[in-house]
Amino acid sequence: MQLREALARRYDDVKAWIKVITFYELAVGMKGTLSHLIHYKPITLQYPHEKRILSDNYRGMLALLRYDDGTDKCVGCDLCEAACPSRVITVVSAEVPGEPTKRYAEAYSMDMTRCLFCGLCVQACPVDALGMTREYEWAVYDKRDLLLNKQQLLAIGDRSFPTREKRIEFQHQNLAFFNVAFPGQPPKGG
Ligand code: SF4
Ligand code: SF4
Repeated sequence: MQLREALARRYDDVKAWIKVITFYELAVGMKGTLSHLIHYKPITLQYPHEKRILSDNYRGMLALLRYDDGTDKCVGCDLCEAACPSRVITVVSAEVPGEPTKRYAEAYSMDMTRCLFCGLCVQACPVDALGMTREYEWAVYDKRDLLLNKQQLLAIGDRSFPTREKRIEFQHQNLAFFNVAFPGQPPKGG
């Protein structure tokens, strides 16, 4: 009985010794790494010749949109400016000439160096005048090139959303009241 125990102990010692000299535990630890090395398939894309497929809900550069007749959708309400957590947006709202109850964005700018692409401005807009495009190639050498004015933002919208929303004949009063696109609307509550 004692002999058998002694042999078993010796066997365990030899086993442990073999594991030490063959770096067995190290190999077990590296199993995942080695497997990855052997089965490695590179996923490098040769940008800009190859481009990644963007997800359907990708949030890229922002744009201002127009109706199908070219009218600005923006009614200068400032809600996007208020919703933006990074103070990207500056809206200069003005009365529509000859229609003092209606407003439009006389000037509109975005400092895209600060944008988080969170989409809160798009959600805040009551007339869907803002959209997030799928454009992402906006690396520039001069940060000032990312301070976009209204015309630039409208141009981005024109090329990213070629199908424009039809300018409907009537909107909810609260929107129509402010909307430059509806010069013939009755005053609010009328
Ligand atoms: S996406 Fe977010 S951070 Fe960028 S302008 Fe809109 S609200 Fe501001
Ligand atoms: S929330 Fe919409 S309508 Fe109002 S200022 Fe911003 S873009 Fe224009």
